[in-house]
Amino acid sequence: MTELSKIEQPNAADDKYLLYIDGEFRSAENDSTLPSENPFTGEVWAEVPSASESDVDSAVKAARKALSGPWGQMTARERGKLLGKLADLLAQNAELLGILEAKDNGKLLKEMSGQTQYLPEWFHYFAGAADKLNGEVIPSERPNFHIYTRHEPVGVVGAITPWNSPLILLAFKLAPALAAGCTFIVKSSEHTPVSTLAFAKIVHEAGFPAGVFNVVSGGPEVGAFLSSHPGVNKLAFTGSDATGKKVLCSAAENFTRVSLELGGKSPNIVFEDADIDAAVNGIVAGVFAATGQSCMAGSRLVVHHSVKDELLEKLVARAKSIKLGDPMDPETEVGPMATRPQFEKVKGILKQAANDGATFLCGGGASEEHPGFFIVPTVVDDVHSEMDVVKNEIFGPVISVLTFSTEEEAIEIANDTRFGLAAGIWTSSVQRSTRVAHQVKAGTVWINAYRVVAPNVPFGGFGHSGIGRENGFDAMKQYSEVKAVWVETSGTTRDPFAVG
Ligand code: NAD
Repeated sequence: MTELSKIEQPNAADDKYLLYIDGEFRSAENDSTLPSENPFTGEVWAEVPSASESDVDSAVKAARKALSGPWGQMTARERGKLLGKLADLLAQNAELLGILEAKDNGKLLKEMSGQTQYLPEWFHYFAGAADKLNGEVIPSERPNFHIYTRHEPVGVVGAITPWNSPLILLAFKLAPALAAGCTFIVKSSEHTPVSTLAFAKIVHEAGFPAGVFNVVSGGPEVGAFLSSHPGVNKLAFTGSDATGKKVLCSAAENFTRVSLELGGKSPNIVFEDADIDAAVNGIVAGVFAATGQSCMAGSRLVVHHSVKDELLEKLVARAKSIKLGDPMDPETEVGPMATRPQFEKVKGILKQAANDGATFLCGGGASEEHPGFFIVPTVVDDVHSEMDVVKNEIFGPVISVLTFSTEEEAIEIANDTRFGLAAGIWTSSVQRSTRVAHQVKAGTVWINAYRVVAPNVPFGGFGHSGIGRENGFDAMKQYSEVKAVWVETSGTTRDPFAVG
C-alpha cells in the first residue's frame, strides 16, 4: 500500500496528485496545473495537473494498446476477480476518499463518505456480472446455418464526470465498462479533480495492466479533446444538458457511441391520501440534501390542493430548522454551493423569480448568517410553468410549489418539462401509485420514497435528461458491440448469385 500512504494526510501541503497514464503517475506534459478550492473555506487546498491535448492523446494511445495486451487476453472471470480486488481496496480507503470529496465539492462529509462506503458495491456487482454477458443462439430458418451472437468490448471508453458526486458517477461507468472488457480514460471535473486522481492510486494498487484505466484532469477543453478524439469508441458523460449537447455533437463526427446522463427538473407528487410526514421527509431529502446539487433533485412539488396548507406548513417549518454550516461537522445538514458561479447562478434565478411575482415561503437568497456560498433552503410559491425557477434546473436548495385537483392534472404538470430523470409519488393507494408511475415520463419513479439508487437498478432519463441507462445488468451491454456469427454447417457450395 505504498502509493496509498501518500494520500493519508489530505490536508498536507505536499500532497501530490498526478495524471495516471499507461500505468504511470506523471505531471502534465507542459507542467501546467490547476487549483482545487475548498468551497467552505475558500482556500486552494490542492494543485492538480491540467492535461494538454498531447496528454489526452497519450492516454488514448495507452488505452488502445491495452485492449490487445494482457487485459485483452483475460477471460471475463479474470476481469471480474480484478474488479473484486479493486472493490476491497476501495472499501479500505472509503473514509479517506469521502474526506477528499467533501473538501473538493463542499458537500457534507456524511453524504460523501456514505457514497464512498457504498462505492465498492458497484465493483462487486459488476465483478459478478462480468462472466454472465452471454450471447445467444438464434434459431435459423436455414437448416445449414448455426447462428450466434457475441458481446465484444466496444473498445476505448472516454468518460467525463461532473463535480457533485465524482466517484460514484465514475463507478456508474467504470465498473460495467471494465466488466465488459473495455479500457478507460476519465476526465474529472475541474472543480473536483482530487478524488479521481486518488482513486487512480487504488486502481494501480489493485494491479490492473497498464493503460486499462487512465486519468486526465483539467478543464472543459480537456473534455473537448477527449470527446473529439477519433481513438475513443464510446463516450460516457454525466453533466449538464448544455455540455451534453456539445459532447453529442463531437461524438457525431466520429460515430462514437455515447451515453449521456444529464440534468433534471423532477416532480415530487403528493396526493391527498399521502402520509404527509413521510412526504415532507422525502421532499427534504429530495431537494435540500446535497444542497440540492443533485441531478435527481425533486425540485418541483406537485401537491393536491386539499393538503397543500398542511404540507407546506410542515415543509417550511422543517426547511427553516435546517442547520447550515461546515460540511465536516456531523451536525450540519446543508453545506455551501460547490462553486462561486453556481452560487451566483442560484441567487440570479431567485432574484428573477421574485421579479416574476413568486413568493418565498422561506429562504430566497444567500445566507446572511454564514459567509461563503450558502443559499438558504427555499420554498417558492405563486409560480407558473413558464417561470425560469419552474422550467430550468437550478442545482440548489430550491423547490417550487405547483397545485393540482385531479390525477390527470397531476400527471400533466409532472410531465410538463423537457427533462425526465426521476419522480416521487406519495399516496397510500397501490392502484393509484402504479397507474401514475406508468404515466410519468421519467427514468426512475419512487413510490413513497425518494433519492435511492443501487448498482443493479437501471438509472437514466427520458428527454433532455439523457440517452441510455447506467447501472443494472444491461449497462454492460452499452459497453459492448453485438456481433452476429453465421456458421455454414453443411459444407455445400452455394450459388453465388442466389444470396439471400
Ligand atoms: P458540466 O456540464 O458543466 O460539466 C460536466 C463535465 O463536462 C466537467 O468535467 C466539465 O469539465 C466537462 N466539460 C465542460 N465543457 C465540455 C466540453 N465542451 N466538452 C467536453 N467536456 C466538457 O456539469 P457540472 O456543472 O459539472 O455538473 C452539474 C450537472 O450535471 C447538472 O446539470 C446535473 O444535473 C448533471 N448531473 C447529472 C447526473 C445524472 O446522472 N443524470 C448526475 C449528476 C449530475
